[in-house]
Amino acid sequence: MNIASSYLNLSVKYKLNLLIGATVTSALILACSTVLVYDQMAARDSLRNDLGMVAEIFSANSTAALSFNDASAAEELLTTLRVKRNVVAGFLYTADGKLFAAYRRQQGVRLLTQPSPAGDSSNIQADRLVLFRGVKLNGKKIGTVCLISDLDELQSRLHQFAWIVLAILLGASLLAMLISGKLQRFILEPIAHLALVAKTVSVEKNYSARAVKYAEDDLGQLTDTFNAMLAEIESRDLALICHRDRLEGEVEARTAELLKSNGELSEAKDRAEAASRAKSEFLANMSHEIRTPMNGIMGMTELTLDTDITAEQRDYLNIVRTSADAMLIVINDILDFSKIEAGKLEMDPIPFNVRDHVEETIKAMALRAHEKNLELLCEVRREVPEYAVGDVTRLRQVLINLLGNAIKFTASGEVELDVCLESQEDGRVQLHYTVRDTGIGIPANRHEMIFDAFSQVDGSTTRNYGGTGLGLTISARLVNAMNGKIWVESTIGKGSGFHFTVSLEASAERLEVRPLEEISLAGISVLVVDDNSTNRRILADLMWTWGLLPTVAASAAEGLAHLRRAEELGQQFGLVLSDVHMPEMDGFDLIERIKAIPNITQAAILMLTSGGRRGDIARCKELGIAAYLTKPIRRQELRAAIVEALASQAQPERGPTRPEIMTSAVRRNAHRGTGSHILLAEDNVINQRVARLMLEKAGHSVVLANTGVHALRLLKEQNFDVILMDVQMPEMGGMEATAAIRNIEIQTGGYIPIVAMTAHAMTGDRERCLQAGMDDYISKPIQAPALLAIVETHSGRSRVADASLLAG
Ligand code: ADP
Repeated sequence: MNIASSYLNLSVKYKLNLLIGATVTSALILACSTVLVYDQMAARDSLRNDLGMVAEIFSANSTAALSFNDASAAEELLTTLRVKRNVVAGFLYTADGKLFAAYRRQQGVRLLTQPSPAGDSSNIQADRLVLFRGVKLNGKKIGTVCLISDLDELQSRLHQFAWIVLAILLGASLLAMLISGKLQRFILEPIAHLALVAKTVSVEKNYSARAVKYAEDDLGQLTDTFNAMLAEIESRDLALICHRDRLEGEVEARTAELLKSNGELSEAKDRAEAASRAKSEFLANMSHEIRTPMNGIMGMTELTLDTDITAEQRDYLNIVRTSADAMLIVINDILDFSKIEAGKLEMDPIPFNVRDHVEETIKAMALRAHEKNLELLCEVRREVPEYAVGDVTRLRQVLINLLGNAIKFTASGEVELDVCLESQEDGRVQLHYTVRDTGIGIPANRHEMIFDAFSQVDGSTTRNYGGTGLGLTISARLVNAMNGKIWVESTIGKGSGFHFTVSLEASAERLEVRPLEEISLAGISVLVVDDNSTNRRILADLMWTWGLLPTVAASAAEGLAHLRRAEELGQQFGLVLSDVHMPEMDGFDLIERIKAIPNITQAAILMLTSGGRRGDIARCKELGIAAYLTKPIRRQELRAAIVEALASQAQPERGPTRPEIMTSAVRRNAHRGTGSHILLAEDNVINQRVARLMLEKAGHSVVLANTGVHALRLLKEQNFDVILMDVQMPEMGGMEATAAIRNIEIQTGGYIPIVAMTAHAMTGDRERCLQAGMDDYISKPIQAPALLAIVETHSGRSRVADASLLAG
């Protein structure tokens, strides 16, 4: 194995030498051995013949000695054998086999025992040839001759031959080497040359090198193939180089192009950014510039309407107010749209009550629907969660737009808002809102288009119904921002159904309901900071109307000075009402300054923004501003915001400038009138306010309960004529509260009529309420005549409970 691998690793030259040497040597050895064997055999035969002839002569000569029994003659005869150097012994036997005479060449040196006589034969025994011949006389055998020859001649011949063979072998090998050495050049040289060229190619990567062809043999063909291969590689190499050069050229050109277009793009980007900044700036300014005078118009109109004016003037002012409202809608649409287009739409998600939100929205639209004698229905499905987190303002905006359109495009019949739960998973709820109407409908080919900006089903719509064609576009964008989608299903002449979904964060939080009405604003000092004098006047007037004590400042610096002075005098402000957009130091800067000065004020802060600047809302939150309003402000909104800001700031250890919270129950008991005494169980502040206003205007007294549990507690303390019971309330809903009341009444013997107030306006709801033990049912949005009629019907039906039992 080792020898084989060592041989394999030898160079071709040595391999060839070894091969030739081995071949020549083995051929010679074979030839010489054959000749040697043949020669030895021939030599033996000649020795045998030679000895046979001597024996023949000797047998012919010995007949006389045998016949005459002359042993000495026979021995003498035998001594003649001395001339034959190879004959070492000779014996003569008588016919009966007895030794008659004997001859030995060297006595004692070679002690040869005579062999037993045998017939004519010869055989080689060890180093001798023994030959027998009969001695005949007249055809009769009279004795036997035996001659013994040594084989020295054969051996010396063998030795000689061996030397000759060795000499031949050496000579032949040498000659073979010499010749092969000469011939090998023709094989080895081309191979070595090929190897050298291959190495040059591989090391220097020089594919233009070529091997020289020595002859037209196999190696010549190999050289040709090798050269052809190199040529192929060289041509491919060249092609590759060309390709690479072309590619490099292309890359260079493209890079240059890219650099150029990058430069252009970056310039365009800078220009676009500058344009976008300018647009944002413009938007903010426009928003401010339009909203501020609008605020003036609307505020002043409202204030003037409150004064003593003639009926004609009131008419004119009412028209001004309606026109201003209409104009505000258009302005809001356009500003909203530009804001969305500029990517400046900000979402402000807060936890809210889904049902209340819907009810409030419906309520806001009720007047418009009823003016057209349309039925306005609303259903929030049972499975819809009570609370969610979302941007209520934006959600309301979409609903108001869809409901507004539905009312606008419906001449008779009904408009219905339906809310159901699409899905609920991973802490998110997907709500599905549907606004259906029985109006003019929309042709199928316009279903997609109406969501595009400024598009209306036909141009005459604007003349007949008014509108900018932006409402649905804005709604679509808002819905999109709330991760939902909007679509319409409609049949011409039959009506339309606008659907949209929104994905809201689920909220486990039960919202704390603050009874806004129970907070009195009287006597609270308020600092009004606004650079616009009209605004200052409107705001100050409003503050006076509500019993607040306003101090006005025309700039942030002046505002700060007022706050400092108040602090020195120990008369802190309860509320700071500041405009955002002011020259030099804006509203946010003012608040930052206020926050930076310790103990300067504990006042609740309310901001009035034009809402045009991105990040205003976030900034308000960051600065801990209690509430913020977008101008133009409506009186009720502002009051609600002030109450909310004060309530959120309200703490038990409030100073004298804080609003006093007085439960309405205490107040009502003190000033009890002649109307019915009504327990209004309702958790929603706006609903509370609406119902309460309606009832109080008609001379009834109202006590508020925020939950079913609260209602039960109040029932123990006071006697009521009627309970108006909201069905959905936190802690304990209307149904459970009714059941509990009816249970108590079984023991006490008392009875109180309970009227359900619910937004569930579907058939079957009435039955459910009655089954739960209620006496009647009124659906939201509540209208004064219906409410008063129902209260009238049930007042006086109550039976006072046995006081002793009630106390237990
Ligand atoms: P507009 O201010 O004109 O109402 P919108 O974007 O809200 O703008 O609506 C676009 C158009 O879609 C309307 O002009 C009207 O042609 C059509 N449309 C919207 N809602 C309804 C509806 N409920 N019934 C019939 N047509 C409608």
